[in-house]
Amino acid sequence: MREIIHLQTGQCGNQIGQKFWEAISAEHGLDPDGAYVGDSDLQLERINVYYTEATGGKYVPRAILIDLEPVTMDSIRSSKYGGLFRPDNFVFGQSGAGNNWAKGYYTEGAELLDSILDVLRKEAEATDCLQGFQVTHSLGGGTGSGLGSLLLSKIREEYPDRMLCTFSVVPSPKVSDTVVEPYNAVLSVHQLVENSDETFCIDNEALYDICFRTLKLTNPTYGDLNHLVSAVMSGITTCLRFPGQLNSDLRKLAVNMVPFPRLHFFMVGFAPLTARGSQSFRALTVPELTTQMFDARNMMAASDPRHGRYLTVATIFRGKLSTKEVEQQMHNIQMKNSSYFVEWIPSNVKTAVCDIPPIGLKMSGTFVGNSTSIQELFKRINTQFTAMFRRKAFLHWYTGEGMDEMEFTEAESNMNDLVSEYQQYQDAAAEDEGGEYEENEEEYQEGEE
Ligand code: GDP
Repeated sequence: MREIIHLQTGQCGNQIGQKFWEAISAEHGLDPDGAYVGDSDLQLERINVYYTEATGGKYVPRAILIDLEPVTMDSIRSSKYGGLFRPDNFVFGQSGAGNNWAKGYYTEGAELLDSILDVLRKEAEATDCLQGFQVTHSLGGGTGSGLGSLLLSKIREEYPDRMLCTFSVVPSPKVSDTVVEPYNAVLSVHQLVENSDETFCIDNEALYDICFRTLKLTNPTYGDLNHLVSAVMSGITTCLRFPGQLNSDLRKLAVNMVPFPRLHFFMVGFAPLTARGSQSFRALTVPELTTQMFDARNMMAASDPRHGRYLTVATIFRGKLSTKEVEQQMHNIQMKNSSYFVEWIPSNVKTAVCDIPPIGLKMSGTFVGNSTSIQELFKRINTQFTAMFRRKAFLHWYTGEGMDEMEFTEAESNMNDLVSEYQQYQDAAAEDEGGEYEENEEEYQEGEE
């Protein structure tokens, strides 16, 4: 058994977390109360990674739900899936974090820390061989970002040899109009660089664009965005939850994906994209699926992979499809776009196939890329950060919680360093190979033959 403990923090963290649990519970044949009603042994073979088997044959998520205010958690508790979670694992305060990272990290959040760690230790002690932790949170608010960061550093301290991964929602003015979000996000990235092993970047800007442009939803809600998030989270975790060899635990995934410790921010994508409540009736082919997975429009980060290069890539195909055809298509797409994959990491694309499709689809593809173009996302946040920080706007809300201005300066420069490092590895190939840089300017070709 290689268990994962899941922590969901703040409004966003809890909302996407809940959707994740709904999606994977259905895949593993669990009803909303955690009773097994499925029909395949494959559903149960590795169910212990995410669920504990409780008395009475119920499966209980190894999940801790955390917030500094009760609202979101109340609504989870009273939802259809409210009975799924262990009641003791709801840990919450009353004060709220007021979109202030400092409240989450230093004051209100710090007060809740001990009760969270108590629950966490209990979960950890009950495991057989804990592989690590996953955290869902947003970077733009106060709780998920501030308290989420604090938790990461405490977990790192207490379980230094376990894997720590995050599903981090990046703020966008298209979705939220809270002005201080860039501050909270930069302060969080500063922490993620040091304490996370793998961060799946879920960019609200890209989610919004997918809803608006591809799914034609004129006024996307969080429910619409989160439908996309749960699809990609279920996709990413497929290899952890179902039998298979490739990337079958968090460490193996990190070993394949992270060539340099700081560069662990992944771009994720999914195909086919469908709106909530609608199904894709048209059966896709493997070539179509492959093309879509590598398409910039399917990426859940508002960065264009054609502006950078892939250090590493992992793809997960699901459904009853021919492994041979998958390999062929993956080979084709790499051949046609070879200049977009750094050549100094041979065989940097890994492909897994899982027979079991997600609910409601015949087949699907999930994309995880370590692309140097992720720097575009950091640059976007940084521009918004700098505009305000230059004038020290809104800073008193943070210093009022005891924070030092220096911490802002350090966070800013850490993120700038991160951007330079991505740039350095993006250029590395060009320098080493002389003339070949030109190739990168070539038309990016889709994989279909
Ligand atoms: P917290 O409760 O203090 O952690 O604050 P929030 O999680 O509400 O953080 C605000 C940020 O999260 C903003 O960028 C929101 O756009 C984003 N956000 C809040 N709820 C959701 C959600 O359900 N889905 C998505 N995708 N983003 C959310």
